[in-house]
Amino acid sequence: MAKRDYYEVLGVSRQASLEEIKQAFRKLARQYHPDVNKDPDAEEKFKEINEAYGVLSDQQKRAQYDRFGHSGVGDMGGFRDYTVDFSDIFEELFGGFGFSGGQRARNMPRRGRDMQLKVEMTFEEAIFGVEKDIEFERDEICSACGGSGTEPGTKPTRCSTCDGLGEVRQVRQTFLGSMVQSSTCPACGGRGEVIVTPCQTCRGSRLERKKVKKKVSIPAGVDSGTQIRLAGEGLPGSNGGPVGNLYLLLDVKAHKYFKRHENDILLNLDINIAQAVLGAEVEVPTVDGDEKLKIPAGTQPGKVFTLRGKGVPYIRRSGRGNQRVIVNISVPAKLSKEQRELFEQLAETLGSETIPQEKGFLDWLNEALGG
Ligand SMILES: [Zn+2]
Ligand SMILES: [Zn+2]
Repeated sequence: MAKRDYYEVLGVSRQASLEEIKQAFRKLARQYHPDVNKDPDAEEKFKEINEAYGVLSDQQKRAQYDRFGHSGVGDMGGFRDYTVDFSDIFEELFGGFGFSGGQRARNMPRRGRDMQLKVEMTFEEAIFGVEKDIEFERDEICSACGGSGTEPGTKPTRCSTCDGLGEVRQVRQTFLGSMVQSSTCPACGGRGEVIVTPCQTCRGSRLERKKVKKKVSIPAGVDSGTQIRLAGEGLPGSNGGPVGNLYLLLDVKAHKYFKRHENDILLNLDINIAQAVLGAEVEVPTVDGDEKLKIPAGTQPGKVFTLRGKGVPYIRRSGRGNQRVIVNISVPAKLSKEQRELFEQLAETLGSETIPQEKGFLDWLNEALGG
């Protein structure tokens, strides 16, 4: 097939201005775009228009074409692909109606997805911080093909179904007039290219499953539900977009004795009736080891003692919360003969009076924690 003169293709004179060339191209593109024109020759015609415009709209290429004809623009026969920015023309053609932005949007760099990983830790690890070895699996860019999906040494080819646009358009007649519906190209999945020889390592998926081992340092004072962000440790982006993040979701195991209330550590402590009545010095477990606690004579059940600075470190400032020791008085259920006699003697001296209480255990607790 002999090549037609580019000026003839666009129907403009050799002296036509760039504006005239643009106008002529738009008019013809509107007429022959394969989305609009279902004539079997329309696609070839559209390519021809495209090619002519690609040359004539470029000052340098046009000058070469004027001097040397088709051979001046490197033509070796057949249609050449020119990179023409169609976006404004498409917008004009389709008025943005049901048009999603096509190639531009689909080939836009996209950030990779985030990943979340649950990390279990002990009560003490959460309080003092810890270096944890974590291990997980993650999809990474295939190292053999560098993420292209094609076997090294081969190249993907332009998708013929969508002509490299990544999407296919259909014109529907509706009561509003013609509507263009675009959908992802089924042949190339929206990439605009198809892989002819897939990479053997990733089978064309562009990704490789990898085991990842990492040492992460978890700060002191974290709690269940705390998330730690490891920037750029998530899934790879597409089209050169950045890698997503990895979030560690902390799960702190319950402690045998200690409970947490914000930055305070609560401990219920049983003392015996003699210790409550006469007072005593007792050993109390804390996260820093045993601490001495002085129980004054006449200590009531529910009394809360505070061990300053024995709580949970604050994350955003220095210092720690307190440990609150809530005293419970254990009443012996079994007595030796001797103990029984002593209690009986005691009972005689205490009499049989009972007094209704104004304050209960919860009042004590609220008072202690509130103040
Ligand atoms: Zn690969
Ligand atoms: Zn395609």
